[in-house]
Parts: sequence; structure tokens; C-alpha cells
Amino acid sequence: MSNGPGPDHGDEAFRASEVERLVKDIDLDPFLGTPVDPLAEPLEQPVPVEAQTPPLLVLRDLLDDERFPELFARALRAADPDFRELFPRDATPVLRDFARAMRWAFETTEYARGDRAKVEEVVEFARHLGADHRKLELTPEHHRRFGEALAHTLRHLAGRAWDDRLETTLGTAYRVLSTALQQGAAVDEGPARVGATVVEILRPTRDVVVVRLISDVMVDYHPGQYLSVLTPYAPGVWRRLSPSIPSNPAGQIEFHVRDVPGGALSGSLVRSVGVGDRWVLARPLGMLEVDRSEPTRDVLMIAGGTGIAPLRCLLLDMMRHADNPRVHLFYGARFPGDLYDLPTLVDLAATAPWLTIQPVAEEDEDPWWAGPRQDLPRTLHRRQTGTLVRAVTQWGSWADRQVIVSGSPEMLRATVRGLVAAGTPRENISYDRP
Ligand SMILES: Cc1cc2nc3c(=O)[nH]c(=O)nc-3n(C[C@H](O)[C@H](O)[C@H](O)COP(=O)(O)OP(=O)(O)OC[C@H]3O[C@@H](n4cnc5c(N)ncnc54)[C@H](O)[C@@H]3O)c2cc1C
Repeated sequence: MSNGPGPDHGDEAFRASEVERLVKDIDLDPFLGTPVDPLAEPLEQPVPVEAQTPPLLVLRDLLDDERFPELFARALRAADPDFRELFPRDATPVLRDFARAMRWAFETTEYARGDRAKVEEVVEFARHLGADHRKLELTPEHHRRFGEALAHTLRHLAGRAWDDRLETTLGTAYRVLSTALQQGAAVDEGPARVGATVVEILRPTRDVVVVRLISDVMVDYHPGQYLSVLTPYAPGVWRRLSPSIPSNPAGQIEFHVRDVPGGALSGSLVRSVGVGDRWVLARPLGMLEVDRSEPTRDVLMIAGGTGIAPLRCLLLDMMRHADNPRVHLFYGARFPGDLYDLPTLVDLAATAPWLTIQPVAEEDEDPWWAGPRQDLPRTLHRRQTGTLVRAVTQWGSWADRQVIVSGSPEMLRATVRGLVAAGTPRENISYDRP
């Protein structure tokens, strides 16, 4: 190996910058006593503020600034050591969602112009969010520090344009919203979090795992609901997952998880999940259900990929009833081999005369890299090739059915849009928003 300039030199430079990056990545603040204010240096280009703009809209514009999530993440880390654990290491995606919700709240309140119903809608939304945040076990002190960090960040973004009217408006708005959040969290009964142990793992395809867990106490969810889940594979990252079997006194829960490329959690979960791992499950949410009110309407179910989980949970629950509406299930995926749950569904259909399954795959053949080909079980309807939305809408408008859709954000968008265009009344379609 040469010691002179040349490739080795570059290599050293690379290593030096790597080391620098690693050292920068190590969070030393907790060991250094009083945290340094990360927003002490004024911004060179604060957000322009027009004096005549109403204060709530100024606050909205400050939240809209692209620097907000990153600056707020730094302010939060300095504000309370607990926030380091409560948020994922890269907190910016969560804080971007928070900014979007706050912008909506400020804008709706401003344009409500005294319409109490509109303002109550905002407060109700905060209560609903608070019920979900119960899993974070926040104290009033956390709420106070969060509010201080928010004010500090917005002040920093406004620079010299920050004034008393902005300070007062933010103080009032935050007080109302954080009170509603805390009220929402207080209303719910039962444990905020339940521990669960992974007891079995199945790998039906290259990018899907079926994870079976036993929860420490029974989680009482309705079929079709989802749970917020915290796992050891991405600390601080909560994601929604839908149980694929109904709640039961033994605490058995099964989730189907697909590796979403570039995602914060799913890839590492699919790769690393192991028997004995401990997960945290939070309160059930979501409204997917089969409406049994009279006169009963038949059901159209449309599932893409792991979107089958909540629908299969509904079907398993229906098996416990003597009388059921007819269900036509379209189950789709990219490749035929990705229809991993078809054997279970075919078993269900064998004893459920009310259930018809229509498999759909976008491609006719599995790719060579998908591994050994598995023969799909026979269904009454032969597998169709194409997108789910095409397969469903070519049968007509399904206007007389209650329609339940579950799948990726992209699949939901395309399917709901396609159904409405084909004449399905929008109010007949239910799905959980991504
Ligand atoms: C109500 C509800 C129930 C859910 N149930 C399940 C479930 O049972 N099983 C399951 O695997 N996932 C389910 N999800 C999706 C899950 O919550 C995560 O979003 C998903 O696992 C990706 O997480 P991530 O951290 O890897 O990626 P993220 O960092 O959350 O997302 C990365 C990107 O991928 C997009 N994305 C999210 N989900 C999908 C998807 N399924 N296909 C394609 N793109 C996607 C996101 O919009 C984002 O742009 C559900 C989502 C919702 C809203």
C-alpha cells in the first residue's frame, strides 16, 4: 500500500469525513449538563411577515416553512430529555404531520369567523388525536414543554417580526388545543398500552411476514379496526397495523406486514422480527365494519396486498354468525404469488356459501426472482389479470352494495376514484384514511 498521495489519501479523507459524521451523530447533550439553545443564532432569512395578516394565518405560514420540522425537532430535544425517547431518531416526518394538523386547525379557526360549530370541529379533532396520543403517556409537564418549544421555534422563524399579538394568539390557541388533547386522552378507559410477545413468524412471500403475538392482557378491538404498534426495530416509530384475526380472551393477535421500500419501520420489521420480541400495542381505532342493519345490504370487499388483514378479520368474525349478507371479495396483488392469503380464504369459502373470492394479479406470471412458484388454490372465479380497480369496475357500479376497501394509499386512491366514476355512491364506500 502506498503512503503518498493518491487513492489512499482519498480513502483517508473519506474515513475522516465518515468519522466526523459519526461523531456528529452521537448525541452528547444528555452528558453535558445544561443543554445549549439550538436556536440561539438568529436566522439569516426569517419568514416574511405582513403586518396586516391575521395572527392565526401568520402562525400557519410559519408552520408552513420548510425549515420548521427540523428546527422544531432540535428545540424539542433541548426542551425535555423525554422527547428524545418519545420521538423517532428522525422526528421530522412526524413533526411534518403535526405541522399539517396545526396549519389546518389555525386556518379553520381563522375562517370560521365566529361559527362555533367550525371551531368545535377543530377542538373535537384535537380530542380525537388526544385519545390516540394516550399511548405516549404524556404528562401536563410534557404538554407545557412541547408548547414552549413550539413557541420558541415559531419565534425563531419569524425573527424580528415576532410581536405580542403573535405571542398571545399562539398562547391561547395552544392552550385550547392542548387542553382538548389532554381531555381526549383522559376520556378513554383501559390500559394506554399493552405489551405483547412474538410467538410465531411465517414468511409467505419474499416481502411479507405474518407475525403472531400473545398480548399480556386481551386487547378488545372490533373486527376491522387497527392498532397503533411500537416495535423494537425502529425506536419511537408508531405505525398502524390491522389484526387479521378477531380479538380473543387468549390475547392471540396476528398481523401481516409488508416491506414498504424506503419506509422507516416495515423493512427492518420484516427483516429482523424474531420469536420472543416484545411489542407495544395501543388502543384500537378505525371504523371498518359490516353493516348488519335492516334491510341488510350485500357486501363488496376489495383488498390489495396486506390490506387483506382487516377484511379477513371481518370475514372470520362473520363465520360466527348464522346469517350473513353475501360477500364478494376481490383480492389483488402485483404478482400471482403475492396472493399469499388465498389458501386461508379458500378454506373459509368452503364452509361459507355467502362468500365469493375473485383473485386478481397485475401480472400473469411470477418473476424469476420471486423464488419457487407456488400453485394457487382453485377459486370459483378464475384469477383475473389487471389492476383491482379495473377488475372490480368491469362488473358494473356495485351501487347496491356496502363497499369496504383496504390497501396501500395508492391502491385506495385509485380504487375509490374508479368506483365513484363507475357510479358507486361515495357514501357507500368505507376505508381507513392513510
Ligand atoms: C389504518 C391503517 C392500517 C394499516 N394496516 C397495515 C397492515 O395491516 N399491514 C401493513 O403492512 N401495513 C399496514 N398499514 C401501513 C403501515 O401503517 C405503515 O404505513 C407501513 O408499514 C409502512 O411503514 P414504514 O414506516 O415502513 O413506512 P413509512 O415511513 O410510514 O412510509 C413510507 C412511504 O410509503 C407509503 N406507504 C405506506 N404504506 C404503504 C403500503 N402499504 N404500500 C405502499 N406504500 C405505502 C407512505 O405513504 C409513505 O409515502 C396500515 C396503515 C393504515 C393507515
